[in-house]
Amino acid sequence: MKIVVTGGAGYIGSHTCVELLENGYDVIVIDNLSNSSFEALRRVEEITGKKVEFHNVDIRDKSSLSGIFKLLSETLLPLSLKDNTAVIHFAGLKAVGESVSFPLEYYNNNITGTINLLEVMKEYGVKNLVFSSSATVYGNPHTLPIKENFPLSVTNPYGRTKLMIEEILKDLHLSDPSWNIALLRYFNPVGAHKSGKIGEDPFGIPNNLFPYIAQVAVGRLPFLNIFGNDYHTEYNREDGTGVRDFIHVSDLAVGHIKALPKLFTNCGVVTYNLGTGKGHSVIELVSAFEKASGVEIPFKIAPRRAGDIAACYADPSKAEKELGWKATRTVDDMCRDTWNWQKNNPNGFRL
Ligand code: NAD
Ligand code: UDP
Repeated sequence: MKIVVTGGAGYIGSHTCVELLENGYDVIVIDNLSNSSFEALRRVEEITGKKVEFHNVDIRDKSSLSGIFKLLSETLLPLSLKDNTAVIHFAGLKAVGESVSFPLEYYNNNITGTINLLEVMKEYGVKNLVFSSSATVYGNPHTLPIKENFPLSVTNPYGRTKLMIEEILKDLHLSDPSWNIALLRYFNPVGAHKSGKIGEDPFGIPNNLFPYIAQVAVGRLPFLNIFGNDYHTEYNREDGTGVRDFIHVSDLAVGHIKALPKLFTNCGVVTYNLGTGKGHSVIELVSAFEKASGVEIPFKIAPRRAGDIAACYADPSKAEKELGWKATRTVDDMCRDTWNWQKNNPNGFRL
């Protein structure tokens, strides 16, 4: 079985490639390296002892994309593409703040890129797709934990691209029920592979909590700003900081492996939350990271960040019931593995 992984050199993509290879799948990565390094894929090969086929291609470049699927159809002969391939689609831009400043870039990259990909998949009869969606499509939920059938609402261009793509995929399936599509809504992916060889490596100053803490711990940044300690809903802790459902990236990667067989059961469009079902506050995270690393994390309380919600965590029971998937790694595991990655690679993949 061959799996095309768009965005496979990125953070979640590289961890998913490891799980795919370890589960016997052949992996073809398409990535323009706009937010990643080829070194990540070299390390995927080092971890697994297996080869990754890599194409440095932008998914908006339709003729190159077509060329990759043509080659794939020729190598698979006499097998059909429909029954022997699937696409896991990670490629896209993902920074909320940046999407507010550069909406056209986000719509172009995420929406146009996805439409291009779908057109090429259709042309070659590849109709099995796993799509990276996000808990951001739930907006500010009225109650917790969040179930898949909660109302959807988004507040920024990044979130809108995720919701629009979900809608596009549903329309596509309505028009042609032979498509099988898993919409996976990730909560907060963090952590790194246990080997310490791959992990999150944001360009510039990190936007997200975990890489920020890790860079403070390793001395690249002086202190952490905690955005608000005045969240006092029934779901927040006494410390008043934001609450999120942090999920280990390797658990998330396994979620994709569990979703793949579902595609081959004529599932139509299915939606799953990938989270742990537990909320942790920012302050709890800082303490857990200090314990795992033995390093003090200096922090300052800063004003709330625009657009942040007070608390968010998943009800992941649908994925457990229908896919047999459940996150197993704890917050301590997430902190230990992030620290192992960061201290061994203080400059990420840049040597
Ligand atoms: P990432 O930036 O590390 O990975 C995305 C990869 O896609 C990068 O390697 C980048 O170079 C590539 N890419 C971007 N545009 C491309 C294009 N036009 N053509 C080819 N390659 C392109 O991000 P990630 O954290 O691994 O996220 C993967 C997916 O999961 C994204 O779609 C993201 O929106 C989604 N997601 C991420 C999170 C998160 O917190 N990390 C949460 C929910 C959903
Ligand atoms: N956060 C913080 N300082 C930072 C980055 C994030 O206090 O430098 C908080 C943020 O306000 C939220 C939580 O950490 O409550 C998770 O934020 P992140 O950006 O990692 O993920 P989000 O849930 O916003 O997608």
